[in-house]
Amino acid sequence: MDKKRAPLKRKLIGYIIFLLIIANIGLGIPSYLLAREELEKKGQVILSNAVHMAINEIEIMALNVEAGAITLEDAQERVKSTLIGPETADGKRLLNTPIDLGDNGYFLAYNDQGYEVMHPTIEGDYVYDVVTPDSKQKLIVQEQLRIGRTGGFFDYNWYYPNKDEIGRKLSYAKYEPNWGWTIVATAYASDFNESAIRITTLMAGIFILTVIFAFIFTNNYINQLLQPIFSIIDSMKLLNVNKMIKAKEPSQNDELLDLVTGYNLMLESLEHNMNSLKNREKELKKLAYIDELSGLPNMNIMDQYVERQIRKNNFSAYFVLIDIKELKTINSMYGLSFGDDVIRSVSKNLQEHMPSKGSFITRLTGNEFALWIPSIEEKTLLKWIETTSDYWNQAFYTKRFEVHVDFTISYVEINEEDQSFESILQKANISLQYAKTRELDTVRYTPEIFQEFEHESVLKLHAEKGLNKNEFYPVYQEKVDIHTDKVHGVEALARWHSDKLGHVSPGEFIPIFNKTKLILDLTEKMIDYVLFDYEKLMSKYQPDVTVSINISPLFFMSEHFVSYILEKAAEYKVPTHCIILEITEDVLMDNLELVNKKVNALRQAGFKISLDDFGSGYSSLSYLQKIALDEVKIDKSLIDDIVTDDSAQRMLHSIVEVIQNWGYKSVAEGVETLEQVQIVKNAGCNLIQGYYYSKPEKLI
Ligand code: C2E
Ligand code: CA
Ligand code: CA
Repeated sequence: MDKKRAPLKRKLIGYIIFLLIIANIGLGIPSYLLAREELEKKGQVILSNAVHMAINEIEIMALNVEAGAITLEDAQERVKSTLIGPETADGKRLLNTPIDLGDNGYFLAYNDQGYEVMHPTIEGDYVYDVVTPDSKQKLIVQEQLRIGRTGGFFDYNWYYPNKDEIGRKLSYAKYEPNWGWTIVATAYASDFNESAIRITTLMAGIFILTVIFAFIFTNNYINQLLQPIFSIIDSMKLLNVNKMIKAKEPSQNDELLDLVTGYNLMLESLEHNMNSLKNREKELKKLAYIDELSGLPNMNIMDQYVERQIRKNNFSAYFVLIDIKELKTINSMYGLSFGDDVIRSVSKNLQEHMPSKGSFITRLTGNEFALWIPSIEEKTLLKWIETTSDYWNQAFYTKRFEVHVDFTISYVEINEEDQSFESILQKANISLQYAKTRELDTVRYTPEIFQEFEHESVLKLHAEKGLNKNEFYPVYQEKVDIHTDKVHGVEALARWHSDKLGHVSPGEFIPIFNKTKLILDLTEKMIDYVLFDYEKLMSKYQPDVTVSINISPLFFMSEHFVSYILEKAAEYKVPTHCIILEITEDVLMDNLELVNKKVNALRQAGFKISLDDFGSGYSSLSYLQKIALDEVKIDKSLIDDIVTDDSAQRMLHSIVEVIQNWGYKSVAEGVETLEQVQIVKNAGCNLIQGYYYSKPEKLI
């Protein structure tokens, strides 16, 4: 729960006023009481003196009566006139007291029977039983008669004359034996102590003035005293709105000065810390948006920029990705700083030679630059790509290392369906990937590329599951000896029947697998199946029938391939000389030295090595001399043409000749007709693998 706020200033003033009140009451009340008591005492003296004077008067009169100088009645009337004034026509007296008994004081006298023998208004009345009009009900007359015997004071409450109010009265009574009167002088206490009340009222007035002065004075003084604290509070309030204003130092030198100085010091160090934090934040922001190496904006900025263009419906633009080929290789061969030079130089060149006004250039990732190029024709863009690539090639060629730097470039024509940076980047990335796998320099994004990408993704997804569910299995195609027509060996070929996709041909899935680790899993599976099947193959054909297994480049180049295949052969007890490992030319393009080492080790262990698909792609006869082989398979694409194309036939002849020169066996692949069989035979081929003899089949 929140405590009610009580400001310090109010508390201090309250406290001081409280002290003042206590002090004043402490002084005022006793002095009032004291003054009243003294005044009343004085009053009593007056009253008793008055009564003694009256008795004196009576005694003198009594002597005169005794002497016969005056009658008793006259004497008594004289006394009454002297004491309370002569009798008027209505029987009352004027209250001309010879002694000041206050405004309403007077003399009176009772006889012992309780009658008023002297009274300003009710002379002759019987008052013996009169009581006070308050709750005490004192028998006034009887008391006064009693006290009067010896003379004494008596106070009681009685009405003020002509008023309904009751006031305290003081009286002195004394019995006078000559006439048997009890003389009483009575007066209201207030008549005597009025000055006490006046003094008290004055004191109260002075007191109120003191309080007012005290209030004003304390207020000012406290304001001044608390000023440093208020100043700190103000400064703290400003701190809330991020303003650092120091508190004002007080002129006095006391603990408050220490407080303000301390606070200001704290503020200074806070400001210092905040400033360094702000600088750090600025730097971080810069890092988050600016690529340090190239000084170009980074992906975050490109993202925001493209989103803004989309929101503004600026669709007339191309989004271009430029990828420095083999930057990793460049880094590892020539050093990171050279790689950095390349990036810097490309960045600089891009900035200096923008394809069109308003082009936005960023460094997207390590070796990728992204450009948003507005209002440009595709022709102009392609021309720019061509000249820029040429420039870069040259620029680096003249460097210390004479490095040839190449680029892969993809571009997307933006249209209204492009509603996010993410989707545009995806298109550009897919196209870039497409270009890389096909070794193209520049690729424009098309929906077909996207479909292919999607298809590949779906295939990969199902392949992974399919491998675990054993959806893959081998079929075998025979390799026939051209002279004896006998089956010399078989080639194992993978088949995939997918639960979800149905039958998928190896022509479709193998190239996709080859780009990923999926090919490793598949090859392992195939090796197991084939070696397991070997016994059956022996019983189907002959004991030393050979079995060919396709080994993908990735699998072949994997670190433990040689030991792996050796262990497997041993595990299934298949003689190594019956296993032919089919490798392709792409392997030779890798690290030839390592390939040779592996090939030699494998051949040493008894395995046979076959070079697959010879005559397709980049095939060069020179490959044949680079490694030691056992067999070369002439690609179906060459065989296809030998019936109709003489030059193909001549080529076949020379290829077979070279193969034989090296002492390798030659296999003609994809032979479908008798005519082809004849030509292949004439060319001197050793073996034929083709539909003419047999199709790949499941082993039963
Ligand atoms: P490849 O290694 O060149 O295999 C020969 C391909 O030619 C096989 O296609 C075979 O069915 C086909 N073929 C053989 N004779 C004829 C013919 O007379 N006419 C026609 N039209 N085709 C013929 P397949 O089985 O579709 O395999 C295609 C390619 O897939 C293979 O070419 C091979 O590169 C790859 N492949 C198949 N299985 C595996 C495997 O287990 N591992 C690896 N790494 N690759 C495999
Ligand atoms: Ca093959
Ligand atoms: Ca082949």
